Amino acid sequence: MQKYLKAIRENICKICVDSTADGECTLSKNEFCAVEMYLPQIVEVVHKTNSEYVDEHYKALKETICAECKTKDTDGDCFLQDDANCSLDRYFPIIVETIQKVDSESL
Ligand code: SF4
Ligand code: SF4
Repeated sequence: MQKYLKAIRENICKICVDSTADGECTLSKNEFCAVEMYLPQIVEVVHKTNSEYVDEHYKALKETICAECKTKDTDGDCFLQDDANCSLDRYFPIIVETIQKVDSESL
């Protein structure tokens, strides 16, 4: 998992709106980042989906990660997503691409 985490820090955290210019996360201890919290599950979903189409990954991520995520209310709405405040939702195409790139470099 360490190689994925390293690649996420280099490719996502550096461009994330919640990071400093050096890519340091600025979230407080009371806030949460879905990318960080669910990284093992995200990697698993990308591997299982194994598709070149980003829409298929997005659907699978929604069905697995979001379905279990603590910020979903009973109606299935997510206040973080509604406010464009979920890093997983914001950057999912680059996250998928980053995981696939790590995999291709490990072959
Ligand atoms: S919110 Fe998540 S993706 Fe953004 S900088 Fe922090 S750890 Fe990285
Ligand atoms: S969009 Fe909402 S429910 Fe889905 S991972 Fe992000 S915070 Fe969780």
